[in-house]
Amino acid sequence: MLFSEIPGLVEIKNHLINSVKTNHVAHALLFDGEAGSASLPMALAFATYINCQNPSETDACGLCPTCQKINKIAHPDFLFAYPTAGGKKVLSENFIKEWRLFLQNNPFGTLSDWLEEIDIKQGNIPVEESRQIIQNLSLKSYEGGYKIVLIWMAEAMGQSAANALLKVLEEPPEKTIFLLVTTNINRLLTTIISRTQRVAIRNVNSEELTEYLVKSKNITEERSKQIYFLSEGNISKAFEIIDQNDQNEKTWFANWMRYCYAFDLGKLVPLADEFDTLTKESQRGLLDYGLKIIREIYLQTVGAENLIKLENEELQFVQKFSKVFKFENIGQISDLISEGQMLIERNVRSKITFLDISLNIARLIK
Ligand SMILES: [Zn+2]
Repeated sequence: MLFSEIPGLVEIKNHLINSVKTNHVAHALLFDGEAGSASLPMALAFATYINCQNPSETDACGLCPTCQKINKIAHPDFLFAYPTAGGKKVLSENFIKEWRLFLQNNPFGTLSDWLEEIDIKQGNIPVEESRQIIQNLSLKSYEGGYKIVLIWMAEAMGQSAANALLKVLEEPPEKTIFLLVTTNINRLLTTIISRTQRVAIRNVNSEELTEYLVKSKNITEERSKQIYFLSEGNISKAFEIIDQNDQNEKTWFANWMRYCYAFDLGKLVPLADEFDTLTKESQRGLLDYGLKIIREIYLQTVGAENLIKLENEELQFVQKFSKVFKFENIGQISDLISEGQMLIERNVRSKITFLDISLNIARLIK
């Protein structure tokens, strides 16, 4: 994780970077933000920056061996503790594969996302975990740099786990940095809080989220503002809304094509009514999505499967429909959808436009 992969929060990033530049990194930091905020990614980006062999003024390089090992969660001096379950002997390292996947796919994820990933209902950090950390810290650093211990959801430590950790926080070994991440500071021992330097992670503001979504997710400014409004600047929630939307578009488009294929007017007319009730932005989104899938169907038809970027259900859909669409029709279908988009932009009644596209596609596929 790099700082640049986190939306906004420049003042927090600068504060952390400056502490490295001026050699004032606290030996224990407490990243405190609500569930779904940037606290965990921020701690990861900071750990990367501290150990990077070639950092810039604003970020780790992302390319040196250390950055790459940290990014793959395979750095021997970067230790993790996070909630797990399954008995005293089950520690974080037993879940390291799942943890890597989680950080790769969902670094802004919440505790419930994580528990879902490892299929348990309630997780905790047992005292054995603290003991394991202390034992690991007694060994020499493998690569000569800092040893970093990241404890995610520090509030999941029970009393004895917290007390065991406290001892090592009070007398930290040299060149060791603790990064604690919490979503509920009130559940931490005050003695732990007083041993750490708090880094408050706020939610992002509208400008920060918009800039990020426009640049990294190719989402329009208008839609980004709407996502901000719905997510209240919680990054995980914002991503969820985007996924949900993609899911809706996927289902919607698949149904549309099925009804066209079956020439089912009993379904196409109500679908046109539904389309009519959507905002112009959503209508545009659906047709854009349709064009994207048609392009992939084209690639599949001409044997350029290696260029297809889709996965799972969408890929299956494309494979199935590439058998239905005649090669010579794909361009026409794509033109029909583009023309429809133009008409809708010019405020031609969407219901009629949509029905018209549907019937033309149905005739072509027949
Ligand atoms: Zn680096």
